[in-house]
Amino acid sequence: MSTEAATHTASLAVWGLQGPVEAGHPFTAAVGGTCNAGCVLTSRQVEIVDADGATVARAELGDTAWPGTANLVWGNVELVAPQTPGTHQWTARIAAPGHAAAQFAFSVASVPAPRHQLTVQVLDGTKRKPLKAAHVGAGPVHAVTDGDGRATLLLPPGDVTIQVWKQKYSAAEQALHVGGDAEVSFTIRYVPDKDPQYVRDFWA
Ligand SMILES: [Zn+2]
Repeated sequence: MSTEAATHTASLAVWGLQGPVEAGHPFTAAVGGTCNAGCVLTSRQVEIVDADGATVARAELGDTAWPGTANLVWGNVELVAPQTPGTHQWTARIAAPGHAAAQFAFSVASVPAPRHQLTVQVLDGTKRKPLKAAHVGAGPVHAVTDGDGRATLLLPPGDVTIQVWKQKYSAAEQALHVGGDAEVSFTIRYVPDKDPQYVRDFWA
């Protein structure tokens, strides 16, 4: 048998995927590689590409064989779930000198990030009563208060500025951190003769 064969057959595997991951969130998987001729592929680079062939991560194979194997060396790879919810087909690939290119296809399920319910109550500062038909906004998310002076916004976790306004009332805003369902209240004053700049800012 010849020992001059230039090309070995490498193989790859990815494991340790934990099921669906929230869109945009990091997660870790393990990637391992081995060679049918017994090479140890320590320090070889593995590339993870998406369905379009764009690189999403790189990892390096370590120097420790996976338990129970002779030469399956592995490393952790840090990944980020795609922003688009759904199942994404990714491929790990390795190009080690003297080895035919090897790849391993796997799928990553990305699920929508959670939304928290922020209930905003708006009160009339003079009458001390709930104020209906007040506008409540947080960036692109917008709602109008009901007869109980309440509006509900569904927001992703993070920092937001809540703005409240209603024609002929003072406007108000408050910065807060959304980390779960929450309730916040605003009291705004009746100002019947607001200046024209106010009208342009809020009603143009
Ligand atoms: Zn080899």
